[in-house]
Amino acid sequence: MPPGYEERNVAERFQYDVVIVGAGPAGMCAGMYAGRSMLRAVVLERGFPGGELLNTELIEDYPGFETVLGHELAQKFHDHAAKFGAEFRTSVTVTRVHRRDDGTFETHADNGDVYESPAVIITAGGTPIKLGIPGELEYAGKGVSYCAICDGAFFRNHVIAVVGGGDAAVEEADFLTRYAQKVYLIHRRADFRASKLLQKRLFENPKIEVIVNTVVDEVEADAQGLVNNLKLRDSETGATRDLAATGMFVFIGFRPNTGIIEAHVDHDDMGYLKTDTNMMTSIPGMFAAGDLRSQLTRQVTTAVGDATTAAIAVEKYLKSIADHDGPPVIAASGGYAV
Ligand code: NAP
Repeated sequence: MPPGYEERNVAERFQYDVVIVGAGPAGMCAGMYAGRSMLRAVVLERGFPGGELLNTELIEDYPGFETVLGHELAQKFHDHAAKFGAEFRTSVTVTRVHRRDDGTFETHADNGDVYESPAVIITAGGTPIKLGIPGELEYAGKGVSYCAICDGAFFRNHVIAVVGGGDAAVEEADFLTRYAQKVYLIHRRADFRASKLLQKRLFENPKIEVIVNTVVDEVEADAQGLVNNLKLRDSETGATRDLAATGMFVFIGFRPNTGIIEAHVDHDDMGYLKTDTNMMTSIPGMFAAGDLRSQLTRQVTTAVGDATTAAIAVEKYLKSIADHDGPPVIAASGGYAV
């Protein structure tokens, strides 16, 4: 058994030049560029290819497409990457990414399969942040949701609330007015992070009522366990009141899915991965792209930009380790040299 391997139940081992974790826009774009570079690349995805595109009805800010349905753009990304030779494995949940002593990687899947590669690109995105209030998790799927496109149609003619003040909350509140008779947008401050254009739409939509400086303290439900009331609190005065609503959609940001990375990797205060300008993390050979990377904003365009750089940098990294007879060794100081 080669050095660095661990003895465990392994269904099968596969070898690639680069393993890409996650098939959102970043993962699929990385797959496309890796394929074009003739690298043997595999994209591992726990669900279907698309990532956040599948949670977005209409994309209006992807250049060249004035409007495109999220799932259509996802399909195009997938087909494009596959055309250039990227392999996709869906319904494969990555449980951990391990850097072996020899500097190469083992990416472990939940079915026991292990993918071996000298480089990995982590594009695993994030998981919606929860409010952490009583009733929220208890009534998830019974009125509480984190995905408008998935659940919006269940709220036809309902009175519902959206929580948050960023692009996602404002955009999804607007989207939900297709179904709901009324949407309350509840934001804890009076200033919104959302873009000016989205804010304009928000305030012009007659079906939306904006409630600022307010937080939700508790979600309540009827005898059937279906949401029927939100307990609100004015964040300035402390005054409380009830809001009769049968749905609450929470869009207060994402937490990056970095838990699969075994070793310490540099990250910012929020847990987003720090990279150099070539998208390499503090672990040599491990690259990051898309929503889990520390950066100003998280758009489809920034995800594919990151991924382009990452995939091209992987090609150069592989060449450099071939020229230097193997991956760099991390020095005790934390630095490394190829
Ligand atoms: P975000 O920009 O981080 O906004 C999160 C919002 O939730 C903020 O208004 C924040 O309030 C609020 N919030 C956070 N924690 C809260 C809590 N515990 N209770 C109540 N409110 C809370 O997150 P996002 O809207 O999901 O967007 C994430 C990234 O994706 C951003 O870069 C965004 O631009 C991008 N995105 C872009 C589009 C688009 O361009 N069409 C669509 C969706 C997302 P404070 O402002 O008070 O902190």
